[in-house]
Amino acid sequence: MGRDKIYVEVGKRKLHLSNLDKVLFPDDHIVKAEVIDYYLSLAPTILHHLKGRPLSFVRFPDGIQGEQFFQKNRPEWTPDWIEYIRLGRERKKEYIVAYEEATLVWLANLACLELHQIHSFHHYAEKPDYLVFDLDPPEGKNDFNEVKALAFALKEELENYDYHVFVKTTGGKGLHLLVPIEMQYTFDEGFAVAKKLAESFIKKHKNTTLHLNKAARKGRVLIDIFRNKPSQTIVSPYSLRGRDGAPASAPLTWDELQATTHPHEWNLQSVKIQTLERGDPWEAIRSWAVPLHTDKRTRAPGV
Ligand code: ATP
Ligand code: MN
Ligand code: MN
Repeated sequence: MGRDKIYVEVGKRKLHLSNLDKVLFPDDHIVKAEVIDYYLSLAPTILHHLKGRPLSFVRFPDGIQGEQFFQKNRPEWTPDWIEYIRLGRERKKEYIVAYEEATLVWLANLACLELHQIHSFHHYAEKPDYLVFDLDPPEGKNDFNEVKALAFALKEELENYDYHVFVKTTGGKGLHLLVPIEMQYTFDEGFAVAKKLAESFIKKHKNTTLHLNKAARKGRVLIDIFRNKPSQTIVSPYSLRGRDGAPASAPLTWDELQATTHPHEWNLQSVKIQTLERGDPWEAIRSWAVPLHTDKRTRAPGV
């Protein structure tokens, strides 16, 4: 088909794409061209959330049945026009920061199926812009209804504090709840607040735990607040996952979550179509940022 090597223009960049017919999801017959198409089609929406964030990524050069590489450092061959930021201990890690649609296409061409993000932006790297509650179902138990019910319960709990809560599938088994906050607190302060809020929640829900240790979880759903610590990541909104079915981490409305029976209903095909049709349920997420607090607010009647 002569699709082995082509040049494309994305914004002001000229990119060389290769091996477009390479099968990346063998059981689903999805080739690299389709992955690039996914990221390019949704690039404006994805960039709205990723622009300026330090990114790590998982590459699957031989497809999802081959070896995978979780990379925090930008590869040596990264072109000069792609920005990066040094973070971590001794600032040794060079995280890629995407500012352009072309960066997403460049990554997709490298078979970076998964994008993961730090919870802050380049120039405010020490100040997270959201708290994350990572809901992790117990191993061996596949009960999405239980996770879903807990997501709704945690949403309600957090709303009692006047936080605004956004939900996405992870492309895995659980859900991520994000609470946008003003960018003026450290990761330690964010973690302390997430912990306090989660502690109050798990007291009321016996099927949840804060134990990271798998044996100590005893079949309960982990409310993983440890993702709020410095240098942690979550899979980025709209990222694909390197798993059968090409599931995506899909931002949803709460009604859409209610109607979802299996999280992998949200995948390369459905997320692309749905996002282009109905827009981005998280578009206004930053405008709902509030100060960090642990006191329950009581609204004046009628306000
Ligand atoms: P699931 O819903 O199945 O839990 P998940 O993406 O939330 O999917 P977790 O294991 O809970 O998976 O991890 C949460 C986040 O932590 C991931 O999205 C990823 O960004 C990061 N993470 C997980 N495992 C690793 C790892 N081995 N190395 C680096 N980061 C990781
Ligand atoms: Mn998780
Ligand atoms: Mn987790």
